[in-house]
Amino acid sequence: MQALTNRAKAVDRSPMSFTERLYLPAVFKGMFITFTHIFKKRPTINYPEKTRPFSPVFRGLHILNRDAEGRENCTACGLCAVACPAEAITMEAAERLPGEENLYREEKYAAKYEINMLRCIFCGLCEEACPKDAIYLSETFAPSDYQRKQFIYGKKDLLIPHPVNEPDAYQQALGNRAKKSNS
Ligand code: SF4
Ligand code: SF4
Repeated sequence: MQALTNRAKAVDRSPMSFTERLYLPAVFKGMFITFTHIFKKRPTINYPEKTRPFSPVFRGLHILNRDAEGRENCTACGLCAVACPAEAITMEAAERLPGEENLYREEKYAAKYEINMLRCIFCGLCEEACPKDAIYLSETFAPSDYQRKQFIYGKKDLLIPHPVNEPDAYQQALGNRAKKSNS
């Protein structure tokens, strides 16, 4: 019969020899393999104190972006929701009122913006579809939780901190984006 992989191994069904029945050589062989690993570089790290560097193309948790004055970029056009293959994005648009020019950059904004992180496949198509640089995928991943409803991320979870009122938190949220724009 033709093997599907080259990892197929014929099973040896011959009776065990005296030394094999002692099991001790196999035990020592196993202990020797364990012993050799003492001198090898440890593959584990002390997470979360230490973290591994991410790939430059890593796509993590979404961030809803603001402009330099802290106004929300999103104009609730819905293009990200249309582009999303997982149908993970929902939103409700609202009209900007007089006096709200410092809150929203465009005349229309997302009063409600939600992403279901359990549906999201982190493909980044929402970021590519957005004409307003209003959403991007950061190098943070979604924290674990026990309840499904906790994975529906709303604006309070997604909006980047205010660049004027919380500059440190804003820079931290920018992550690699800040490094790219500074270089
Ligand atoms: S990353 Fe992909 S799956 Fe996730 S919300 Fe954006 S478009 Fe949808
Ligand atoms: S995030 Fe971008 S694409 Fe999505 S609704 Fe807002 S402006 Fe439109």
